[in-house]
Amino acid sequence: MAVQQNKVSKSRRNNRRAHDGLTAANPGECPNCGELKRPHHVCVACGHYADREVVAMVEDVDLDDDAA
Ligand SMILES: [Zn+2]
Repeated sequence: MAVQQNKVSKSRRNNRRAHDGLTAANPGECPNCGELKRPHHVCVACGHYADREVVAMVEDVDLDDDAA
């Protein structure tokens, strides 16, 4: 096991942690369906990007139905 040679002071520790903060997501409204979506990403709800459908969405998936 690695053992530290010197005690890290509170100041040095806190200075290191100054960059650990997370930035909040910045979701925007989908222009097609109004759902919140990540910027520069395809809308998860309707599959649209830049006012056109780029991912075909399945209408409804029934997990109980046997695929036979
Ligand atoms: Zn959408």
